[in-house]
Amino acid sequence: MKQRPTFPAQLDATLEKNRPNPRGTRVPHANLQTHASVAALPSVATVAKPKALTSGLPHAVPQGVGMDSGAVRKRMVQKLAEQGVRDPQVLAAMGAIERHRFVDSALANQAYEDTSLPIGLGQTISKPGVVSRMAELLRNGCTGRLGRVLEIGTGCGYQAAVLSLLAEEVYSIERLRGLHDKARENLRLLRLPNLHLLFGDGMQGFAKGAPYAAIIAAAGGEAVPQAWVDQLAVGGRLVAPVATGGGSGAGQALVVIDKTAQGIRQTILEAVHFVPLKSGVA
Ligand code: SAH
Repeated sequence: MKQRPTFPAQLDATLEKNRPNPRGTRVPHANLQTHASVAALPSVATVAKPKALTSGLPHAVPQGVGMDSGAVRKRMVQKLAEQGVRDPQVLAAMGAIERHRFVDSALANQAYEDTSLPIGLGQTISKPGVVSRMAELLRNGCTGRLGRVLEIGTGCGYQAAVLSLLAEEVYSIERLRGLHDKARENLRLLRLPNLHLLFGDGMQGFAKGAPYAAIIAAAGGEAVPQAWVDQLAVGGRLVAPVATGGGSGAGQALVVIDKTAQGIRQTILEAVHFVPLKSGVA
């Protein structure tokens, strides 16, 4: 029987040493051991087993989405493909996760539009177009699942759920207790055993899960925190919104950082608009 990790966790050093290239290969589950003191990250919730991703969930489909949200989602996926998302696994994950369950029922009828929506505490769920674009960049054409992924900014948990279908393990960290709790509630019925929710300051990353095959941020700072680069595996990729130009009115751009044996390669892509990356917890 496959042993499920308990968290807070520490990775087994011997297994880690033998870990192959983190991208594109099905990395065996790391042997995770419980670790008593994780001061900066007081609570970690593992979202349990996948039973019904797209059907059989007990709560009713909200009004406005209709009886068959699958058809609306299929149209959304078609539009994403028309916009240029090619990765079949990303498109499949976007088709599988029910976005309307992650927003307030009053907004459910807008859940499959390509728009960001409020999720409380001044934060927003990212647009499906942005989630799929970033996931595709993160996967960088790999054919299997990604290895371990760190997400900074769980928010309502939507992107974390999408990522959990694309990676072996996902650690998602949120600095606002109210949203961490909301995400846990939203994700409870999906029962995703490889998704681990953490409450803490994601600017520090999550060293106990490192090295990561991929790191993705859903909030934009002045620069990419060094901790994220340090916690990225060689061969790994980081995708994050970062302020451009400096100053208070500065915009943001999507930045891709590839960590290679030779060093860091940074690529600046299109302009984006994300909520700010903030330090500390609240
Ligand atoms: N991916 C999310 C988007 C949430 S918006 C979703 O699908 O809903 C970005 C989130 O980043 C917000 O919830 C915000 O509180 C969080 N955030 C900002 N700075 C953070 C930090 N330092 N650590 C962890 N989370 C942070």
